[in-house]
Amino acid sequence: MTPFGETGRNPPPHMRKASLSSSEKLRLSRLLRHKDLFLFDLDGVLYKGKEVREKIGGTRAVEALRQAEKNLLVLTNNSTDSVETIRRRLSEFDIPVRQEEILSSALLTAEYIKNKHGKVTYFLVGEAGLETEMKKRGHARTEGDDAKFVVVGLDRMLTYAKLDKAARLAAGGAPIIATHAARFYMYGDGPAMATGPVVKALEYAAGAKATIIGKPSPLMFRMALARVRCSPARAVMIGDQVDTDLEGAARAGIESVLVTTGVDRYAEGIALATLSNVDDIADFL
Ligand SMILES: [Mg+2]
Repeated sequence: MTPFGETGRNPPPHMRKASLSSSEKLRLSRLLRHKDLFLFDLDGVLYKGKEVREKIGGTRAVEALRQAEKNLLVLTNNSTDSVETIRRRLSEFDIPVRQEEILSSALLTAEYIKNKHGKVTYFLVGEAGLETEMKKRGHARTEGDDAKFVVVGLDRMLTYAKLDKAARLAAGGAPIIATHAARFYMYGDGPAMATGPVVKALEYAAGAKATIIGKPSPLMFRMALARVRCSPARAVMIGDQVDTDLEGAARAGIESVLVTTGVDRYAEGIALATLSNVDDIADFL
């Protein structure tokens, strides 16, 4: 078992490479120029921090992609902010991403339910950003027994009463749809518990299995590919976390690049390359 917040992917000091060799650079350039769609994780890639956010990079990478006429999408498990909030924040950091290029797990959860079941009534275990995205697609939140679905995202005001109600509804047959099932996310300067453990609690209590939308579920990647009609082979994921970004991409048949500005420092065997900043992508296009 790896300790909380550790994915066991940090290399021993002698294996930390300072930079790519010239033949590795050439190879990466060849691979990236062949890609049509660049998927970016948000936290730990473009910015970091939750209360106070600090820009990591992205301006140069996005401008280079526009120049090269490549598609880009931000693919984030964030389920607490609406896409408008995320776009505003990126624009404050001078990262020129359009609203329709931001796919959050909250937005895709709402869309997934709409595509599969139409407009539904649901019980929410989650925050305002998720409710906003659900509302935009015509879903109606209810506190009552008429909820046909239990929708779960990160909820930092979670109570026993809320969890118990959600479990009762799920035990009664309401499917559990979760924005994602990651164990932790980076909060401030350390890892904090994410949505996954809450989903597990509900599954255990209700004797049911949840549908998971966000990374590392391939569902989120497939919905992103479908948006711009791109094949997995022509897409690449740029992320900071192996067990969500990189493993999720791999499950969807998508190659990836690790950036070392977030959770993990080491992704040998799964990433095409490891870069020290997202903007380094611009050097290979
Ligand atoms: Mg991240």
